Amino acid sequence: GQPITQGALRVEGLGFGYDPARPVLQHIDVDMPAGSFTGVVGHTGSGKSTLLSLLLRFYTAQQGRITVDGQPLQAVPDAAFRDAVGLVPQEPFLLSASVRENISMGRAGISDAAVEQAAVAARAHDFIAALPQGYDTRLGEGGARVSAGQKQLLAMARALAGAPRLLFLDEATSNVDSETEARIGEALAALHGRVTVIAIAHRLSTIRAADQILVLHHGRLEERGSHEAL
Ligand code: ATP
Ligand code: MG
Repeated sequence: GQPITQGALRVEGLGFGYDPARPVLQHIDVDMPAGSFTGVVGHTGSGKSTLLSLLLRFYTAQQGRITVDGQPLQAVPDAAFRDAVGLVPQEPFLLSASVRENISMGRAGISDAAVEQAAVAARAHDFIAALPQGYDTRLGEGGARVSAGQKQLLAMARALAGAPRLLFLDEATSNVDSETEARIGEALAALHGRVTVIAIAHRLSTIRAADQILVLHHGRLEERGSHEAL
């Protein structure tokens, strides 16, 4: 297998069930060109996170296939896959460590400047700068309190510090104020053309700039279109 260079994803006839007898996703076809921005919406349990899990190779589909830059997703060597993929999880975890360490996550060779650049790109820099010790403020157990939305901005900075080709975001379900939400949307929009973004959204403002929005309904693609069309 080859490393991921462009980050063009294609999903064809995808079908999956955690229990193969009970499909969670059926007949999913999506084209996500390199550098494009795809939003995913749908009711709870409709299969949004499951679709991300398949794109992340956490599970393997029983039907259909996923390709990246024309080769099967499974063919990409593990290290190359890790290098190319960034994930902003629904409930990011924080280390009991400084903001800086939380963003660099022990990855060797990430300079302080690169950490701050990632934070700026994630629209996290302003709130970090306002913390008592800025990037040296301790987070996690016994550390400074950050909101659910700020956690997601930090997780976005963490993901962007790895310079991913593919960025997956599973938006926090609750407790995200509208300003933070708008920042997440802005940060995603600014990646256009450089990073292939797939973002699960609970609020349309996060994916206002999406090239396409997929609507999942009981594991099927019910609709797709632009923000304006839906
Ligand atoms: P939400 O908006 O609540 O996050 P979702 O659209 O992300 O929902 P999924 O988490 O993909 O939905 O779940 C789709 C279906 O798969 C649900 O019926 C769920 O119960 C089931 N499911 C999810 N994860 C697992 C798992 N690890 N094992 C078994 N079933 C699962
Ligand atoms: Mg989910």
